[in-house]
Amino acid sequence: MEMPVPDKGVLSRKAQIVARLRTALPADAVIDATAETLAYECDALTAYRCPPMAVVLPRTTQEVSAALSICHEEEVPVVPRASGTSLSGGALPTADCVILGTSRLTDVLETDYDNRFIRVQTGRTNLSVSGAVEENDFFYAPDPSSQLACAIAGNIAMNSGGAHCLKYGVTTNNLMGVTLVLMDGTVVELGGAHLDAGGLDLLGVICGSEGQLGVVTEATLRILRKPEGARPILMGFDSNEIAGACVADIIKAGIMPVAIEFMDRPILELVEDFAKAGYPDCEALLIVEVEGSDDECDAQLARIKDIANRHNPVELREAADEDQAARIWLGRKSAFGAVGRVADYICLDGTIPIAELPNVLTGMRSLSEKYGLKVGNVFHAGDGNLHPLIMFDANKPGDLELCEAMGADILRLCVDLGGCLSGEHGVGVEKRDLMLDQFTHDDLEAQMQVKDVFDPKWLLNPAKVFPLSLTLSRREARQ
Ligand SMILES: Cc1cc2nc3c(=O)[nH]c(=O)nc-3n(C[C@H](O)[C@H](O)[C@H](O)COP(=O)(O)OP(=O)(O)OC[C@H]3O[C@@H](n4cnc5c(N)ncnc54)[C@H](O)[C@@H]3O)c2cc1C
Repeated sequence: MEMPVPDKGVLSRKAQIVARLRTALPADAVIDATAETLAYECDALTAYRCPPMAVVLPRTTQEVSAALSICHEEEVPVVPRASGTSLSGGALPTADCVILGTSRLTDVLETDYDNRFIRVQTGRTNLSVSGAVEENDFFYAPDPSSQLACAIAGNIAMNSGGAHCLKYGVTTNNLMGVTLVLMDGTVVELGGAHLDAGGLDLLGVICGSEGQLGVVTEATLRILRKPEGARPILMGFDSNEIAGACVADIIKAGIMPVAIEFMDRPILELVEDFAKAGYPDCEALLIVEVEGSDDECDAQLARIKDIANRHNPVELREAADEDQAARIWLGRKSAFGAVGRVADYICLDGTIPIAELPNVLTGMRSLSEKYGLKVGNVFHAGDGNLHPLIMFDANKPGDLELCEAMGADILRLCVDLGGCLSGEHGVGVEKRDLMLDQFTHDDLEAQMQVKDVFDPKWLLNPAKVFPLSLTLSRREARQ
């Protein structure tokens, strides 16, 4: 994976730039010692690493604005970083950049139950947003599996989703407003404590923009009343294709579970070894969860079981109580850890139209044979968001490159089937050079013109999202 050559002019002015940042921010908010900047060298896409030139850790919107305005004047690239759990290398530094970390922006600023919103600083973790309102029986719906660690800032930048987004939508459907600091330090308010806003939908442009357009420091989020109850059912099937067809039939029937999660045999074997969740011996397993009163859950589950029975399941197991529900979810929640215990892996993220699920799973099996690498599937099947995990050996020369080539072919397959390169993990550096498989030059030029407006010097989050070859002239214009 290629990255741009660091700007020697910026590197030679490091001492001056750091000194200016120290005059504007508290002493402990600027880090430039190599031993300490190393901690920021990668995010969760650990295959790529590069320590930044310096790190700033502001506590307020005003401090973010001051840091950005200095970097703008000094023409220093800035990489916004929240909790660093990006799986697409979205927060990967360049050697000449300042990392702008939002981990100290954690306050709850306002909670309004009558109008069902909470306003927070965006370094606050996803789970602790629900934590702040649970006493009053409310919650924040988007629930990435990383929700204990990942922050609202990263969720907004990546338009993150999660298991329960089938019913509640992803971040963009639960975001009402943001405070955004532009690269030159200007503070902008978009949206607010009400639905929609006059004029162009700029909030929609910001959500999912991967730190390319500005730094989000505060967010107004929709909160919802907790449902009366929830009940999962586990279903084992003889093949991936049959499980895929069952998912398509549930959606086609107009039923709206909160979650439909999918795991295939390679994942199930590792998960059983690790979590001992007691899953059945089968090729593919679905966990379907419904919500509501007992009667509502019974009625939805009856229809779902009826559909599943038409696909001859190996086992159908409905949770009778909270303990059994937790056991059903245990394996799914341990899946990434179970794989990480035995192999290096890259977690892909693409979407497909739901009816193509059987086809994409068959195609993936052929690619696994072609490349000789094991692939396991664990994903949000209800909304067609795939997470194939390709396993490889980082110590074996050439294995990472093989893994990357296979990953690219899987994502091309998603695009060929009418889907998209990115579901919820963003493009980052991982899929940057595949963007031309999905978009024409003209499409990408139009997208880059949006960045021209927000960040004319192209300083924010360099070398992400857009293929390097297309951004060269814009980057050269700066130097
Ligand atoms: C085990 C595991 C499970 C995961 N499961 C899911 C899942 O179920 N669903 C899902 O969607 N994702 C998942 N992810 C991916 C990841 O957690 C999400 O992309 C998450 O939203 C990243 O949040 P973060 O706070 O860690 O952001 P970071 O990794 O720090 O940054 C992510 C992106 O946001 C930008 N950014 C950070 N802060 C700001 C800011 N203040 N303003 C503007 N841009 C900013 C960064 O530049 C970067 O491009 C998972 C990751 C792991 C490791």
